[in-house]
Amino acid sequence: MPNLRLANLIDGRLQAPRQERWLDVFEPATGAVFAQCPDSSAEDVDFAVAAAQRAAPAWASTPAEQRARLLNRLADLIEARLDAFAALESRDSGKPLSLARSLDIPRAVSNLRYFAAAVVPWSSESHAMELGAINYTLRQPLGVVGCISPWNLPLYLFTWKIAPALAAGNAVVAKPSEITPCTAALLGELSIETGFPAGVLNIVQGRGPTVGQAIVEHRGVKAVSFTGSTRTGAQIAAAAAPQFKKVSLELGGKNPAIVFADADLGDANLDTIVRSGFANQGEICLCGSRLLVQRSIYDSFRARYLERVRALRVGDPGDAGTDLGALVSREHFDKVMACIAQARAEGGQVACGGEALALPGALSGGWYVAPTVIEGLGPDAVTNQQEIFGPVVSLIPFDDEEEAIAIANGTGYGLAASFWTGDLARAHRVASRLDFGIVWINCWLLRDLRTPFGGTKQSGLGREGGVEALRFFTEPKNVCIRY
Ligand code: NDP
Repeated sequence: MPNLRLANLIDGRLQAPRQERWLDVFEPATGAVFAQCPDSSAEDVDFAVAAAQRAAPAWASTPAEQRARLLNRLADLIEARLDAFAALESRDSGKPLSLARSLDIPRAVSNLRYFAAAVVPWSSESHAMELGAINYTLRQPLGVVGCISPWNLPLYLFTWKIAPALAAGNAVVAKPSEITPCTAALLGELSIETGFPAGVLNIVQGRGPTVGQAIVEHRGVKAVSFTGSTRTGAQIAAAAAPQFKKVSLELGGKNPAIVFADADLGDANLDTIVRSGFANQGEICLCGSRLLVQRSIYDSFRARYLERVRALRVGDPGDAGTDLGALVSREHFDKVMACIAQARAEGGQVACGGEALALPGALSGGWYVAPTVIEGLGPDAVTNQQEIFGPVVSLIPFDDEEEAIAIANGTGYGLAASFWTGDLARAHRVASRLDFGIVWINCWLLRDLRTPFGGTKQSGLGREGGVEALRFFTEPKNVCIRY
C-alpha cells in the first residue's frame, strides 16, 4: 500500500478530489507504486477557478513588493528543504538524485526569486507625443491563468510558470503531470505556510485530458501557459481558439548539436557534448539528439565520443556515481525501445547501447535503457525527424557549413541548436541562419533567466523567460491623455 497520498490545493486548503478517485504514482527506479495522486475531475477545476476568481482582484492590487516577498518566502522554504525535495523529485521521476539536487530544485528556487526580483522594477512604459499628449501603457494582470507542466523537469518547469504568473498579479490554477505530481504537491503545502492568500495559487492534480483540458476550456481562465508535447500543444491551441484565449506553448524538439572540424574538442567540450545528449536520460527538451559531425573529423571524433558514452553509468538514481537513472514510466520506456527498433528497421546501426538494462535486486522492475548511439541514417530518416525524448543520439556526418545548416534546419522542430567551432565569423554566421529559438555556441544548457526561451515551428508559440513571461501574463492597455 503506497504510503504517500497527495492532495489538491484549492482555496488555500489541501483537499481530496471531490469524487475520491486516485491514480497510482510509480517509482521508475523499481517500477513499484509509491504514492497516490488525486484523479481530479472538471468539477475540481471549477472549484479551483472559482476560488481563483475570488482571490484575483485583491491579489492584482497587492503591491508588487508584497507579492515578491511571498514568492521569496516560498523560495526560502523550498531551499530549506532542498534534500527532501530532491529526494522526492528523484524518486518520482527516476532522475539521478545528484541532478535533482544540483539542477532541478535549485533552479525552482531561482525561478521564484528571479520573478520576485523582476516584477518590482517592472512598470508601465510612456511615450510623449509631439501633438501635446502623453501615452502610457498599463500592464494589467489577466485575472485567472492556467499553468500546465510536464514530467521531465517537474518542479523546475512548474515554478517557471507559476512564478511569473503570480508575480504579475494573477491567480493561478496549475496542473503538474500526473506522472510526477509529488514536488508540486509539496510546494502547495508550503505555499500555505508561506502565507499566500487563499485561492491565489491552486493546484489541481490529475490527468491531462481531464484536468488539463478542463483548465484550457474553462471560460474563467484567461490564458494558458503549457509545456509538453507538440501533439498536446496542438490540442490545446485548438481548444483555446474558440475563446481567443492567450496561449504560450513550449513544445518538443529534435535538436541538432553540430561539431565543426575547427572546434576545440578538448575533454571539457567533449564531456559537454556527451552530456547534451544524455543528461536526465535524454529527457530534456533541449537535449541534442542529432549529432552532426564534419566528415573530416568524423572517425576520430566518433571513437572518442563512443568511449565516453560507453563509460556512462546507468543505475540507481540514488547512487552518487549514477549518470543516468530510469526512464520516467513504463509507457515512455516502451516508446523509446520502439524508437530504437524503428532505427534498426530503417537501416540504422547501433554503435553502442540499443538495449534495455536489467539491474539487480529491487531495481529489476525499473525502466532502464542503455545510452544508445545510432549511425548510418540519412537526415530524413524517421529516427532523425521524430522526437524520441530518451537516451538516444543519432550521428550524422556532413561535408561543409551549408550542408550542416540545411540538415540542422531540416525537421519540423525549432527548439534549440548547439554548435562547436573555433571560428568567430562562422559562429555569428551560423547562429543567424539556424531556425531555432535558442542557439548555444561552444556550450549547452547555459541558461540566463532574463533571456527569451522557446522554439520556432512545431516547437511552440511564444516565449517564456524574463520580461517575455511577465508580458505574457499581463494585458497591455494604452492610455492617451491630451494636455
Ligand atoms: P504531454 O504533452 O503528454 O503532457 C504535458 C502536460 O500536459 C502534462 O501535465 C499532461 O498531463 C498535460 N496534458 C495532457 N493532455 C492534455 C490535454 N488534452 N489538455 C491539457 N493538458 C494535457 O507531454 P509530456 O508530459 O509527455 O512531456 C514531454 C514533452 O514535453 C516532450 O515532447 C518534450 O519535448 C516537451 N517539453 C518541452 C519543453 C520546452 O520548453 N519546449 C520542456 C520540457 C518538455 P498528464 O501528464 O497528467 O497526462
